[in-house]
Amino acid sequence: MSSVYPRKTTPPLTKGPAMAKDKVTDDTPADIDIPDNYVAHTLKTQKALPPISWANWYKEINWLSFTILTVTPVIGIIGAMFTKLRWETFLFAVFYYFVTGLGITAGYHRFWAHRSYNASKPLQYFFAMAGAGAVEGSIKWWCRGHRAHHRYTDTDLDPYNAHKGLYWSHIGWMMVKPRRRPGVADVSDLSKSAVVRWQHRNYLTLIITMGFIVPTIIPWLLWGDAMGGYIYAGVLRLCFVHHSTFCVNSLAHWLGEAPFDDKHTPRDHLITALVTIGEGYHNFHHQFPMDYRNAIKWYQYDPTKWFIAACQKVGLASHLKIFPPNEIRKGQLTMQLKKLRATQETLAWPSNNDDLPVINWDSFQEQAQKRPLVLISGFIHDVTDFIDEHPGGPHLLIKMIGKDATTAFFGGVYDHSNAAHNLLAMKRVGILHGGHPHGLEDKAIPPSQRLKIARYNELSSPYGSSTAYSDGEGMAY
Ligand SMILES: [Zn+2]
Ligand SMILES: [Zn+2]
Repeated sequence: MSSVYPRKTTPPLTKGPAMAKDKVTDDTPADIDIPDNYVAHTLKTQKALPPISWANWYKEINWLSFTILTVTPVIGIIGAMFTKLRWETFLFAVFYYFVTGLGITAGYHRFWAHRSYNASKPLQYFFAMAGAGAVEGSIKWWCRGHRAHHRYTDTDLDPYNAHKGLYWSHIGWMMVKPRRRPGVADVSDLSKSAVVRWQHRNYLTLIITMGFIVPTIIPWLLWGDAMGGYIYAGVLRLCFVHHSTFCVNSLAHWLGEAPFDDKHTPRDHLITALVTIGEGYHNFHHQFPMDYRNAIKWYQYDPTKWFIAACQKVGLASHLKIFPPNEIRKGQLTMQLKKLRATQETLAWPSNNDDLPVINWDSFQEQAQKRPLVLISGFIHDVTDFIDEHPGGPHLLIKMIGKDATTAFFGGVYDHSNAAHNLLAMKRVGILHGGHPHGLEDKAIPPSQRLKIARYNELSSPYGSSTAYSDGEGMAY
C-alpha cells in the first residue's frame, strides 16, 4: 500500500494475515475527535493518489483484489467448458448463491453495518461463515467502507463514489489502490463483537472452507459431483455473488427512480432488486438505513427482508427496526410535490393581480368602445379572440361588452365549467377599481389556482402547517 496515507489501509478483498493486524480490540470510536469541518477540510488537505490514466494504471493495481476478481471468472468459464452441469448441482449452486449472498445482504449489510435488527448468536455465526463464502473481505473491513459510503455518499470520501462512474463504483475501486482513505467511520461496536473478532482471526480459513470446500463437498457426498460442485457452486457462484452485491454500489446508484429523496445518486429499481437479493430499493435504503427493509411494499422483491422476518418468526432475530411511516411518507410526498411543481411550471398562468392595471368604471366604459371588454368578478377581460369561439354563440358575449357579466357567467345564464373559468382568467387585462368586493374570492380565483404548489419562501407564513398547498384565501398571490 502506498505511503501517502497516515494509517495503513487494509486491501479490499480477503487476506487474513493483513487484516489480523488491525486493532480489533480498540473500542474508542474512530470519530470521537472529528472536527466540525472534517469533510471539506479533508477533501482539501488530504493528499490523494493521482487519477488512474493510461500512463499509470499498471503501477496502481491492487494485485490481491485484481487477481481474485479476474482469475475467478477465468477459472469458472474454462472449468464450465470441461464440466457437465448436472441439474442437482445447478439447483445447489443457486441455493448456495442465496446462502452466501444473504451472508452479505442480511448479515454484513443490514445487521452489522446498519444494526437494523438484533441477530441471535447462532444466526451471527451463520452470517459470518456465509458472508466469508462470498469472499468480500471481513465483516469489519466491509462495514467500515460501507458506513463511510453512507456517511459521505457521492463525495471522494465515499470509497465507491458513484459520481466517478458505473465501472468505478462497481469494481474499479477494488481493482486499483484506493485513491484516498475512505472518510472516517466508526466501527468500534464491531470490534467488541466476539463473532466479528472470530471471523477476523479465521478469515483465510473461512473463505477457503465456505467459498470452495463446502460447495465442493456437498455435491460430492450427495450425488457424486465434486468437480461440478467446485466449478458451478464454488467458482462461478462466487462470480455471481460478487457482481450481484457489487451492483448495490453501481446499478443501485444509477438506474431507477428517487421516490424518497433526490439529493444523492441512490435509486430504486426492480431490476437492481432482482440481481441483488432485494437491495435494489436503494433510494429508500439511503434515506432510512436503519430500517431492516429495503422494499416497503409487500409485492416488491426483497428476499433479504423476508429472510430476516422469517428469522424473527423462528426466534433467531428480534427488534426489527422500521422507520416511522409518517416520516417515510413525508419524503414520498416531497418528491411527488417536486414533480407536480415541475409540471406547474411548464404551464402558462393568468397575470398576477399586481401586474394588472386598476381601471375605474368610466375608463372601462371608454375602452370597451374600442375593444370587447367584459367584467367578471372584478376582473376586466379582453375577449377579442374568443367571440367567434364562444360555445354559446357570439351574441351572448357581445351583449355583455362593457357590462358586469359575473352573474350571467356563474349560472345566471349558464353555469360555466371549470375549464371555461380557467380560460377566462387567461384573458384578464385589468382590475376594476372597487369592483372586487370581499367575499368574491371563490369566483375570482380560477379552479386551477385554488390548489397549487408554492415554495416556502413564496408564502406569507413559511412555517404554517399546511402551507405546502394554498387554496382560497391562502393563495400565494
Ligand atoms: Zn449506496
Ligand atoms: Zn447500506
